[in-house]
Amino acid sequence: MTTRTVQRWTVARQEALILEVLRGERSLEDAADAHALSVEQLVSWRERFLAGGRRALQGDRARRVCDSIADAVGETPLVRLSRVIDVPGAEVFAKVEFMNPMGSIKDRVARHMVRQAALDGRLNRGDVIVESSSGNTALGLGMMARLGGYRCKVAVRDRTSAEKINALKALGVEVVLVQSDLPPEHPESYNRVMERIVRETPDCYFPDQHNNRENNQAHYLTTGPEIWEQMEGRIDVFVAGVGTGGTIGGVARYLKEKDPSIHVVGVDPVGSIFSEYFRSRTLVKPGPYLLEGLGDEEPIACVEFDLIDDFFQIQDEQAFRCARELADREAIFAGGSSGAALWAVRQALAKLGRPARVATVFPDSGHRYLSTIYNDAWLQSKGFEV
Ligand code: PMP
Repeated sequence: MTTRTVQRWTVARQEALILEVLRGERSLEDAADAHALSVEQLVSWRERFLAGGRRALQGDRARRVCDSIADAVGETPLVRLSRVIDVPGAEVFAKVEFMNPMGSIKDRVARHMVRQAALDGRLNRGDVIVESSSGNTALGLGMMARLGGYRCKVAVRDRTSAEKINALKALGVEVVLVQSDLPPEHPESYNRVMERIVRETPDCYFPDQHNNRENNQAHYLTTGPEIWEQMEGRIDVFVAGVGTGGTIGGVARYLKEKDPSIHVVGVDPVGSIFSEYFRSRTLVKPGPYLLEGLGDEEPIACVEFDLIDDFFQIQDEQAFRCARELADREAIFAGGSSGAALWAVRQALAKLGRPARVATVFPDSGHRYLSTIYNDAWLQSKGFEV
């Protein structure tokens, strides 16, 4: 009787073969031929091997010791929402960006833009970083300015919460308050005032987060890959609020490169022009709204409409209500744009009409809005029921 030795592809043997390929000692095709395996089989082993390596590196990051607080930006947790979603079979996960050092997703953008500008000589020690911001980018820029030896001056709308303005001052940022109700064509409006500040500030660097796609790139390089990894490559829908458009643009580009079938949904407040521009490519007259961080009065270059598949528009009150519901039911203490994200997730699931795996982003913390969204007297003063 003859015995045939059947070589079993243990994980150790798979790894040894994949390492030969990764070291360039043989091609994927040669390795497949030599062992009568399919190339697809080897590709799947290689993907698993690399994913394991990435997880190991992330494990190291969890125990990381940072050279500065800027190195602590990113690698935020993804949290399953189990109490506020009642669609049977749906799985919804939120990336809790308030875990960043300055408390928001915009730390990623500030770090990337400042580092890029310093690298290629657009920004030098002693220069002034100037920007218009709803407060969060400004805080990230304040962090980078302190660390890099720059000064920082920002224009924020006068509806920005006192918590954000006081935090900016604590970081040594010079704050210019802009009247929220000026039309975008007014020279002192939020959209125009930077032209004057840039003109009047010698040795300044203006990142221009609304029109500079380095903003989107920050998310393409970090937020997108992190979400893909944390969702283990299984995502049906990605939902994000649209302020500058950096988050949705950068993340959508990365995710769609990985899986073009991922459905990308944006949300902006009633009063902003984005939703209607998405639907009909027409510009509507902007109106007032209270929600911070989302929407705009005019088109800006960082919103990549062609990467967005659907858009919802939310009333201030719905966003605030959903934010409070998150605190109440999930113990996630987040800002109004996180409430808007939750509301948009629900809209997207209802429209889809079937269970789906959804990823979304919670950009900042409720601590920023203790005097507004989480203050009954403030809500009442704006005409909302509490
Ligand atoms: N939420 C908050 C609280 C923000 O500050 C911002 C930034 N404007 C966003 C959401 C929107 O993010 P993005 O600018 O990347 O569209």
